[in-house]
Formats: sequence, C-alpha cells, structure tokens
Amino acid sequence: MCTDTLYIAKKSDYAIYNFMEAKIEDIKSILDWYLAAGVDVICDEEAHNFVEKNIENASSNETTTKETAVRPATSLLAQANVSACRNARELCRQAQTLDDLKALVESFDGCSLKFSANSTVFGYGNPQAEVMIIGEAPGADEDRIGEPFVGRSGHLLDKMLSAVNLRREDCYITNILPWRPPGNRTPTDGEVAVCLPFLRRQIELIKPKIILLLGASAANAVLDNNDTISQMRGHFMEYETAAGAKIAVLATFHPAYLLRTTGQKAKSWQDFLRLKAKLAES
Ligand code: URA
Repeated sequence: MCTDTLYIAKKSDYAIYNFMEAKIEDIKSILDWYLAAGVDVICDEEAHNFVEKNIENASSNETTTKETAVRPATSLLAQANVSACRNARELCRQAQTLDDLKALVESFDGCSLKFSANSTVFGYGNPQAEVMIIGEAPGADEDRIGEPFVGRSGHLLDKMLSAVNLRREDCYITNILPWRPPGNRTPTDGEVAVCLPFLRRQIELIKPKIILLLGASAANAVLDNNDTISQMRGHFMEYETAAGAKIAVLATFHPAYLLRTTGQKAKSWQDFLRLKAKLAES
C-alpha cells in the first residue's frame, strides 16, 4: 500500500504543491485525484519516489518486470487482499480448538484494522452454547474492554436476552470483525472478506444450534447475500458449514438500530420469541 501511495505522490509532481496559495477547489480536486488513483492514506511527511526505486529493484531482479513495478494501486491492493484472505483460510484449517483460533487471530497481521485498534475482540461466552450471536464489529467500549457487546448496544442485547430467559454467558457472542474500524466506520468489503474465514471457523468449532445475526452487515456477510434486514428478519434461514453441517439462522435488527428507532422494538421482540420457540424444540 505504501508503495502505491508514494508512487503516485511523487515529489516532483505534487509534494511541492503550494497549499498556501491554492484555492479550496484546487485542493479538493487534487485530493479527489489522489483518491481516484487509490491513494487514501498518508504514509510519511516526506514524499518518496518509489517508482524509481521499484524500477531499480526490477532491473536487478529477473522475476520482477517494470510492468509489475508500476501496476496501478487498486490492482496491488486487490492482490494484497486476495492473498490475506487465502492466508486467513489456510491458517484457520490449523485451528482445532477455540483457543488455537483465538491465538491465530491475535497474531494475524493481514487486516490493517488491527493496527488502529486497542484490542482484538474475539468472542465471549459459553463455547458449548446453543445460541451463537454475531454482530458487526467492536465499538469504542468493546475496543477498550476487549469483549463484544459491552456498550449501550450490549446492554440492550442483555435485556432482550433476559426477556427470553437467556443470559449473555449462556450464549456465545462475537462479531464479523475482531477489530474496531476507526471512528466506527462501516467495514469495507475487503476487511470483511479477510476476517470472514476466522468467523466461519468459529462457527464450526462452536457448533451452535441457532445463529442469531444482528443487523444487515452481519447477516449479509454470513449468508453471503445483499438482502435488507427487513427481507431477512422474521423467519428462520439455514447456514451450511464447509463440512456440510446445517445450522438454523435467524436475523434481526441490530440493537444500535433499535436504540435509534424504538418503533421497531416490537418486531425484534417477535424475533426473540421465535428464537425461544426454536430452542424449546427437541
Ligand atoms: N456493535 C457490534 O456490532 N458489535 C459489538 O460488539 C458492539 C457494538
């Protein structure tokens, strides 16, 4: 990523741009130009011309061509993401227990969110739980404490669980992402794709009877669809593990959404009654 960024931010071209004399529109258009070129982070105060370095390296390395050295940013980023996803999938195969998997996630460096987060928020609760609850990503409180759903959303979740005679420690609670996106921004598709193998392995190891998905982001990621939460909630669906085991899935509104939109709490209550009824079966 740094290479791409600094390749485009060649000192000779842009770093000497005089921002003091520039008009706001000029500054905006140059920033838009950077974004369009895939430059979305600042790596250093100093601009470096990595193009020349890459070309020098390329000529001293038979396996690297000039063409690969100047490949556009988006292509390099996509390649990095594909290889991080493959790496995550391969690592997951080694995890035979939840503790193995936790250690792998904690030592995994393939998702940049890890470097801005304070904690790796893995999972909480009973590893033999019948109910596995999956949210989107840790927020500020979860990042600080290192446990999922411990902030305002978590308190509402606890209340909803207790209304159907469940305690958080009876369930297993986790998120699609183990790291907080900065400022609670929506995770990118790439971040979700890299972290998903860890979640899928968690599901295989927990073997819950029911998966409860909180919010559209979690449901879209686990069920691999683009449906809205209103389309998905209100009925049971099915999740199939890589080994072919079928698990009942219920999606419902995210507690953070219910805190903002209290009028939807009645529908959520109906979903929790569905969960209770399903648990009582067999
Ligand atoms: N929202 C989530 O999706 N997960 C948490 O852990 C906290 C808030």
